[in-house]
Amino acid sequence: MKTNYHIHTTFSDGTATPQEYAERAIAKGFDEIAFTDHLTIFPKDRDKESSLSTSKHILNLTKLEEYISLIKQLQVRYNDKISIRLGLEVDYFPESEKMIEETIDSYDFDLLIGSVHFVKGICIDCSSQKFKVEEEIKKNGFNKFYTVYMSLVRKAVETQLFNIVGHMDIVRIWGYTPTDGAIEEIKVLTSVKTQNMAVEVSSRGLRQPIKSLYPSLRILQECKRLEIPITIGTDAHSLEEIDYGYETIVSYIKSLGYSKIATFNKRTMSFQPF
Ligand SMILES: [Zn+2]
Ligand SMILES: [Zn+2]
Repeated sequence: MKTNYHIHTTFSDGTATPQEYAERAIAKGFDEIAFTDHLTIFPKDRDKESSLSTSKHILNLTKLEEYISLIKQLQVRYNDKISIRLGLEVDYFPESEKMIEETIDSYDFDLLIGSVHFVKGICIDCSSQKFKVEEEIKKNGFNKFYTVYMSLVRKAVETQLFNIVGHMDIVRIWGYTPTDGAIEEIKVLTSVKTQNMAVEVSSRGLRQPIKSLYPSLRILQECKRLEIPITIGTDAHSLEEIDYGYETIVSYIKSLGYSKIATFNKRTMSFQPF
């Protein structure tokens, strides 16, 4: 089964409409895709600068219903050609947990990706804020930054709000690799296992300075050891990215002994060969 569980459309920061993606995915032989536009609810005392610089990339809450109803129409329209899942990539902020919960509980999503993009008010994967990440690293070292990021991922997992951990170590984006941090990773994965969640294997990093899949081999080996389910996602922001690095992901997960991937329907997980 060929799947892509991480796609951004024009409802957030993607460049193609859901319909255009559905048609491209069919042409590329996908069996199942999930739309996962960004849902970002900033804490009330948020860093104004961060939110302003990224606000155009976020699914506007007033458009959420339109997004959901369009995806549902496409599910019906392409029913005999491809299976389409309704999802979101939700930004995790500890201070916004309640609002996130209230927002997502009102709808019947198939899956929710929980992702951390902000550490200490800094958007870690925004080019415009790379210098802030580097300032932090200069001050306290990358291991420290990595640990702070991982502890946020763990908190996101512990909320039980999400099904999938998105690009679990995207904090490596600018080319850094932790020389420590395995203990934090194991804490995250132990919680993932307890919460019956999946970890996403993403090709996003292949298009970023780190030039690596997410998560790292060390993390994915631990996933396999703990028998943690995985999903495949290209984090597509354009039609060309619908299958970007798909084969690389498949070889990566096969090399670790995975033979099945997780899929979600109304937030219930099942397994499919890939
Ligand atoms: Zn993301
Ligand atoms: Zn994404």
